[in-house]
Amino acid sequence: MSDHTNDPLKRVEEQLKKCVKCGACRANCPAFTAFQREPAVARGKVALTQHLLKDDIDLDDQTYLAMSKCLLCGSCVEKCPNEVPTDEIVIAAREALAKKRGLTTFHKAVAQVIQSRTRMKLGAKAAGLLGPLFFKKVPQNSGLRLRFPLPFVGNQRYIPAIAKTPFMERYPEVIEGEPGKPRIVFFVGCMINFAYPRVGVATVKLLRHLGCTVIIPKDQQCCGLPGMSGGDIVTVRELAQQNLTALEKYEADYVVSSCATCGGALHRLYPLVVGKRNPELRDRLERLAKKTVDIAPLLRQLGLDPAETGAGVSGKVTYHDPCHLRTRKLTTQPRELITTTPGLELVEMEGADRCCGLGGTFNVYHYESSMAINEAKSEAIIATGASAVATGCPGCMMQLDDGLKQHGSTVEVVHTVELLARILLKD
Ligand code: SF4
Ligand code: SF4
Repeated sequence: MSDHTNDPLKRVEEQLKKCVKCGACRANCPAFTAFQREPAVARGKVALTQHLLKDDIDLDDQTYLAMSKCLLCGSCVEKCPNEVPTDEIVIAAREALAKKRGLTTFHKAVAQVIQSRTRMKLGAKAAGLLGPLFFKKVPQNSGLRLRFPLPFVGNQRYIPAIAKTPFMERYPEVIEGEPGKPRIVFFVGCMINFAYPRVGVATVKLLRHLGCTVIIPKDQQCCGLPGMSGGDIVTVRELAQQNLTALEKYEADYVVSSCATCGGALHRLYPLVVGKRNPELRDRLERLAKKTVDIAPLLRQLGLDPAETGAGVSGKVTYHDPCHLRTRKLTTQPRELITTTPGLELVEMEGADRCCGLGGTFNVYHYESSMAINEAKSEAIIATGASAVATGCPGCMMQLDDGLKQHGSTVEVVHTVELLARILLKD
């Protein structure tokens, strides 16, 4: 039998055959909602990949563009009657295109940034120093808006301020807990480290409240998901290896993530995209995946009582399901934590399980379409009358915040752990 591990298209050949072209995926695909064109929907992506495999299609800009119109949200996979793994197929097709045509200028730049935490730190420091030149503060909130358009970013979006002190510089590597309590390695992720350190602080405070030992390995890197969006599997593999080494270094009961996207990378995409072609890494990546948990189910499992940590706020809160939690079926635990917090009333929005439109670099490449997908989400949040929307992914937080501000809304965007740790955060 031939070894197809180095040909991404061959690896998904059998999966491609499962698609019966029924078109059921059209009803659930946010990219189809935005573009209203067949190549944007799962069925179109599958057909395009079949042509790539047969090598009977031009590898021109249009092919690349068509394949970029996917948020890897997994909605089509959940609803497909034949269990076609379109997200895996799109990742394979993007890798094949990158191998044949090279990375785009944008994704070369992304690789430069995500390959080195040191480079990211320097960039964040420079952003902090030069920020006032480039950004203006948005009145009544902590967000920023660019003073003039920059390549790939424009000047329409609202973005979070870069933290003066990244999260990982605020804590020692090991914070000892009580004897006999769980030892937990915290995979922080770039968004929490540089943009939302308050989410990391709330996570640590909650775990410390439960007596856990919290370990924050200093040599952990970006999870690599931004590279996966562009088919840059070389960078993803390097980062997966580095993270594996950093996270395995400690004997721990769990590896926790408060970022749905990073957790999704460790839990599902590393074994799927990196492990499948690297037999020597496969077992280690699968062990890591088994240990990886999202913060919400972990807090439930460890018996957190939100009455002890999260009371002190009251009001209506609505909850948005991040795709990378929904596809892992982690939808009830965050809601249970919110509803057991005294003073909080959970009001469900319409379409809480629908993608917010971020989709990693989709939001950068197709900003207008990304915000068109977000339109219904912002309207649904506002319609609840809630004063805050909680979620479990810092990427979603950024997108929800941008969408709400574009609507002139003052609904607060928070991570679930911030609600749960309100009392602890006052210390
Ligand atoms: S991907 Fe699934 S839902 Fe979509 S056309 Fe193919 S079989 Fe039908
Ligand atoms: S992963 Fe999401 S955006 Fe991509 S084809 Fe499937 S439903 Fe559409």
